[in-house]
Amino acid sequence: MSLIQLLPVGDAEPSWLGTLAPALTAEFGVRCEILTAKLDPRFSLHPERQQYLSTEILARMQAYLAPNSYRLLGITPLDLYIPILTFVYGEAQLDGPCAIVSTYRLRQEFFGLPPDEDLLQLRLLKEAVHELGHTLGLTHCQNYECPMAASHTVELIDLKGTKLCAGCRAQSLGKFHQ
Ligand SMILES: [Zn+2]
Ligand SMILES: [Zn+2]
Repeated sequence: MSLIQLLPVGDAEPSWLGTLAPALTAEFGVRCEILTAKLDPRFSLHPERQQYLSTEILARMQAYLAPNSYRLLGITPLDLYIPILTFVYGEAQLDGPCAIVSTYRLRQEFFGLPPDEDLLQLRLLKEAVHELGHTLGLTHCQNYECPMAASHTVELIDLKGTKLCAGCRAQSLGKFHQ
């Protein structure tokens, strides 16, 4: 049976995972459970950038894959990067089991604005669907309202919906039921 598991990476708020789980079940139609385990990501901190290398976290996440787990999504409050970019909102193994998303640059506080928990949760859901979409083999979508659209600013994230467009949905359908 297909299963999405959510793994806290660092001090992820339980409410983030608690809100994501039913929303991801609604989007992908599979069970979603929150792991009690937690991954300490300190090994992936690169002091020269004061950021966490997401590719290294994804590699470490393999050890948390359960036999019945189909996709494993890490949730972290930490600032992620890959060497060719100044930051990433998340990273996924294309057509692979693991993905991670960060709330660090999705928070209104990051821009000096008052906290908005509902907006943070909404942005997090869009980015979670985006990264899980990559694990299902989806690449970036030209439809700016589709969560699979590439976005490098929160303004672009805010234009996206939470539901895959018809084309992306058709491509990913059945992936969870192979
Ligand atoms: Zn992407
Ligand atoms: Zn799409």
